[in-house]
Amino acid sequence: MTTETKITVLTTLVKLAAEKEQLRDGAAPDALGTWTKRRNGWGYACSECSGIAPMQYRYCPHCGYEMNGGNKNE
Ligand SMILES: [Zn+2]
Repeated sequence: MTTETKITVLTTLVKLAAEKEQLRDGAAPDALGTWTKRRNGWGYACSECSGIAPMQYRYCPHCGYEMNGGNKNE
């Protein structure tokens, strides 16, 4: 997969996440997202928007969701 393809995939994911974000409403404000280590690729996937990040950020760089910072999936 080329870098350009990766960027395209990420852009698509972000767009999908934005649409999904508009649909979800009334989620618990104190709920925290989680990072899931991807099995078939690099980085971690946001539990909220499925955006991919190279590391487990405190806040998702894609949707801004606050993450619990834990890596309970490992
Ligand atoms: Zn996210």
